[in-house]
Amino acid sequence: MGSDKDRLGPYRSKRDFDETPEPAPGKGGDDGGRRFVIQKHDASSVHYDFRLEFDGVLKSWAVPKGPSTDPGEKRLAIRTEDHPLEYADFEGVIPQDEYGGGTVMVWDAGTYRNLRADEGENSLDMPGSLRGGLIEVWLEGEKLKGGYALKRIEPGEKSQWLLIKMDDDEADARRNPVSTQNRSVKTGRTMHQIAKAGEEKA
Ligand code: MN
Repeated sequence: MGSDKDRLGPYRSKRDFDETPEPAPGKGGDDGGRRFVIQKHDASSVHYDFRLEFDGVLKSWAVPKGPSTDPGEKRLAIRTEDHPLEYADFEGVIPQDEYGGGTVMVWDAGTYRNLRADEGENSLDMPGSLRGGLIEVWLEGEKLKGGYALKRIEPGEKSQWLLIKMDDDEADARRNPVSTQNRSVKTGRTMHQIAKAGEEKA
């Protein structure tokens, strides 16, 4: 197993932990947990950070339009640096002059399972799926449920992927949770309320 410190090097190097309320990487380690989180992030532009726990970190993608429940809607997802496991609970305000400055909300959270683990001799674990450029997971969140695929369309350091709802019983073209369910699943707050509370603290 590679060093978690190396994996989190880019995360650490972008941030000054004396200035940002974001968590410094802790002991971390893979506890076998399979959490996912989607954080709404009002930075230079609003986007949704989709994170899957494996390899002892949160593997991360920035999704400008957020996830859809409609299998006909492909959403661009740009790979970003691995985040520490502690980040899954982070909600608050990153100071404006720091990296990623802006308000962060825990928009959805829950557990997931790797749908490619059960493909007989073609089974792939999560790291194998990531390397191969096709991840298929079943989400059990509060807002999002069912199968989601992440498909790599452009390699590179900031590789581009598509996040697509799989066509299953949880698919629903009429739902639009990004606009209709816009409160934190952690605190019930709106972005405005989180931003306000952050201002008062600063
Ligand atoms: Mn972000």
